[in-house]
Amino acid sequence: MSKPPPPGAPSVSDAESTECVQPRLATERIDIKTGFHCNNKCFFCVQGDKRFEHGDKSTADIRVQLERAIEDSDSIVFTGGEVTIRKDLPELVGHARSLGFKSIQIQTNGRMLAYRKLAEQLVEAGATEFSPALHGHKAELHDYLTRAPGSFDQTSKGIRVVKSLGMTVITNSVITRSNFRHLPELAALLVRLGVDQYQFAFVHPVGSAMTHFGAMVPRMSMIEPYVKRGLRVGLAAGRRVMTEAIPYCLMRGYERYVAEQYIPRTKIFDADFVLDDYTEFRMTEGKAKGPRCPECVHFTICEGPWREYPDEYGFDEFIPVTAPEAPPAAPGDAAGKDRL
Ligand code: SF4
Repeated sequence: MSKPPPPGAPSVSDAESTECVQPRLATERIDIKTGFHCNNKCFFCVQGDKRFEHGDKSTADIRVQLERAIEDSDSIVFTGGEVTIRKDLPELVGHARSLGFKSIQIQTNGRMLAYRKLAEQLVEAGATEFSPALHGHKAELHDYLTRAPGSFDQTSKGIRVVKSLGMTVITNSVITRSNFRHLPELAALLVRLGVDQYQFAFVHPVGSAMTHFGAMVPRMSMIEPYVKRGLRVGLAAGRRVMTEAIPYCLMRGYERYVAEQYIPRTKIFDADFVLDDYTEFRMTEGKAKGPRCPECVHFTICEGPWREYPDEYGFDEFIPVTAPEAPPAAPGDAAGKDRL
């Protein structure tokens, strides 16, 4: 299982102390990609055209992968593509449960969860939490980004449905050039929808996001105030909040909400290969640090930005931190994250 963050509301100095923690080498979570078909066509999709290159895995193949995976961890995330458009998803979730998986997360664009019967089937089969994605505070914005008319209404309803079934809901919102100014309004909507936790993840410029780099990828220095305002909305409402793929130097005062320090060590069953350690991949290949980063107090634990970002924009925005700042006063602060 994943290592929980420090109990209570850890201070910035608590976050700093993770520099002394030894690397966790055991697999803590399984991420199984069931295929790449999807009912959205997001401008920023990291999977890009995989839906045309790889079919969905067969039920039998996924059952075998689940039987292999339980040897490593009892925590699993079903992801894709879009997992909920598979007719066999309840059966696969049930198989995972029967094998002994205790934590079973459904990572989804959330549209199919609007169909209450499907949501109920997944809960009955053993799903323990849902991770839908909402990228805008209103239909015009979300549907523009997903290129799927009606997706905002369906995803919003889907979140309400699984909350009404008593499920834990952890949403993800991709930060793009189109939506970053509206993150506080999106946060307010997520609070109204009753999510337990939300995460703002900086767009990863690969796949479709790389194809549309100019339209999708904002400057990190521009998004910073909106991200922090968006986090404060959730904190004031007592929700857990997180950010992903934004280095500590752009999260000054909010270091404790940087997700990378809590992400479990994950083994990924991808389309046609298995990645044993996604944390190591991010640290050694996926992300990059700049020439001044060794001066920074966060250097050991920081992963840096996705490497495609400085390839285009350079490292000038990443200014080494020489002393941590005091955390912001946040009523109802529910800092920390026990699920990602
Ligand atoms: S200066 Fe470099 S090491 Fe420090 S937080 Fe920024 S990206 Fe990370």
